[in-house]
Amino acid sequence: MKRQNWIALTAAALGAVGAGLAVKSFLPQRFRLDTWNEYDALPAPAANGDGRSQGSEELPEVEVSFLRCGVTTVPECVAVRGAWFTPIDIAYSAVLVRHPKATFLYDTGLCNDISLYLANQPWLFRNTLGNFAFEQSLSGHLRSLGLERGIDFALLSHLHWDHVSGIPDIPGVPLRVNRVEYEAARLGLLDASHALVRRLMCNNPLEFFDFTGPAYEGFRASYDLFGDGSIVLVPLPGHTAGNTGMFVNRSNRSDGPRLLLLGDAAWVSANVQRPATMHPLIWNKVTSDDATARQTLIHLHHFAQAHPEIALVAMHDATAQARFTDVPATWLAATD
Ligand SMILES: [Zn+2]
Repeated sequence: MKRQNWIALTAAALGAVGAGLAVKSFLPQRFRLDTWNEYDALPAPAANGDGRSQGSEELPEVEVSFLRCGVTTVPECVAVRGAWFTPIDIAYSAVLVRHPKATFLYDTGLCNDISLYLANQPWLFRNTLGNFAFEQSLSGHLRSLGLERGIDFALLSHLHWDHVSGIPDIPGVPLRVNRVEYEAARLGLLDASHALVRRLMCNNPLEFFDFTGPAYEGFRASYDLFGDGSIVLVPLPGHTAGNTGMFVNRSNRSDGPRLLLLGDAAWVSANVQRPATMHPLIWNKVTSDDATARQTLIHLHHFAQAHPEIALVAMHDATAQARFTDVPATWLAATD
């Protein structure tokens, strides 16, 4: 065979392999759920005694509201490997939590000047992960609620740019961060992309927390934020080293069941339900530890099946968050 023919044949073969890999990346991926069930191996929570998980009569009233700052629409197969091309909304949100001891944020949404912070980022970033429709800044939300100066602290699920982007709108408000998350971010993330995350975090004071509490609801450790069992943080690592989930346990159930906020352990509920990662191109771009992130996802899958009464809400899941966007009338009355 002539040399040109060999080259053409090789190119065609490589093209076929490439096309095959591209198609495969959209197909579902099998998880070995049987061998990964860490959840079953951990002790069940105590039925009584520590007041952490049962006995809602001991818990305070806690109000939770998602403040959506921006949205983008993607084919579902981008967010959920093996799904179809159905468009779904990806939200950029903060969560406002009112507890008797503090009014605080879980993640921070987007600040008023977010476009300026992103202006010097590469074209590819600005047209993919950094591409969204801006809706309402964090300060705009807080102003409409009369809370411009009413936030006691912001708890950050993790230190990716899209979770710290509201901080310029809350100058001086302390930031509570898992110590492992911050130490890992100091090794590169804070200063990557023209120090985008470091600039967004401004000079707000930092307060570190550790998961020093016992195993909680099958998760290997915990941190009880107010010591009353109502806000319990748990490690959901893999997306980043210290991605932090937050249980909300409360006595007022009329506006929603118990919640577990996931940070970015999943993007949308389907990641947990199937379970399935995002499309590998996105997953590999945003995940710091592939094996740990998959283990967390499978753990959450088992947890969700065991606890249908608890709403698991991912921080980009616009559909799930829409259930919790109405600020209760009692809250508005209290802020007049
Ligand atoms: Zn995110």
